Amino acid sequence: MLSIKTPQLNIINDMILLVLLAFLTYPFLTFSFQIDQIEDGVFVHFGVHEDSNHLNEGDIANIGFIVGEKSIMVIDTGGTPVIGKKLLDSIRQRSSLPISHVIITHSHPDHFFGTQEFLIENPLIVGHEKLNRSLVNNFEFYKNSQYNTIKSNTLKKAELVQANIFVKINQTLEIDLGERIIEIRAWESGHTDNDLSVYDKKTKTFWSENVFVSRIPSIRASVLGWKKNLEEILDMDINLIVPGHGRPLKKEEAIRPVLKYFNRLISQTRDFHKKNKSLQESINQILQDEIINPKSVNKENWILFTEYHYTNITKVFTELEWE
Ligand SMILES: [Zn+2]
Repeated sequence: MLSIKTPQLNIINDMILLVLLAFLTYPFLTFSFQIDQIEDGVFVHFGVHEDSNHLNEGDIANIGFIVGEKSIMVIDTGGTPVIGKKLLDSIRQRSSLPISHVIITHSHPDHFFGTQEFLIENPLIVGHEKLNRSLVNNFEFYKNSQYNTIKSNTLKKAELVQANIFVKINQTLEIDLGERIIEIRAWESGHTDNDLSVYDKKTKTFWSENVFVSRIPSIRASVLGWKKNLEEILDMDINLIVPGHGRPLKKEEAIRPVLKYFNRLISQTRDFHKKNKSLQESINQILQDEIINPKSVNKENWILFTEYHYTNITKVFTELEWE
């Protein structure tokens, strides 16, 4: 009998040990900072599909880095200094090459609040020609709103770091990381009025906040401008798109759903204007057609749909009012 019981006891002991181990390591697993290498030398940390809050600690945007033979380029620095530090530490676990450039893709707080952590590396900070104006105007507001939603004390010590290299609208800046040319392009108003994209010529990877995958795009500047930008991106020689939010996808797969959503918003809104409907009437009709009607053909499966759809409608309504 004993010879039968012993292995059973061993299994039970092993199981208790495993549960204990899982329990003890859980906090570390929760705060681990995952980096995926999506192409040769292209590393991405994927943010979660949520608005910033104290549980996700503001870690909602895609940020990352590209490694050349001589140096490293960082693309966005995250929603808090803590996230910026985690990104820096992740880079240093993989390479000791200098960080020559930090690219700020646009002035939204989930993308730039970690920049101060990279100053120790003395990089060039690259932004759209309109980036600094937006950073300066909005910094205190964003700092307070980030603190109020995330409740991280490190935000109180957040410093405004401005760009010191600028890309003019519709122009491209070439940066050589060593056997690796990166093209930084400044776009006309789309998601914001200061959107930059990053194109790695070696792998034909295109990184841009003008593309949202799964998460609904939030229109902050111009729907017509954004649509034009996306149509231009469709004509580019791109292998893989890293969106500002969501997983990497092939060009068509990434862009078509966003274009479809914009085209629908534009034609609906033009129709409302033609019929002289007020904004409230338009929103009520959309609510009736898309949310209440279960058979609506306009139902789209965007994450955070109700959080942003109505502000998008409002934005498009005002943009198209006088065309
Ligand atoms: Zn943004």
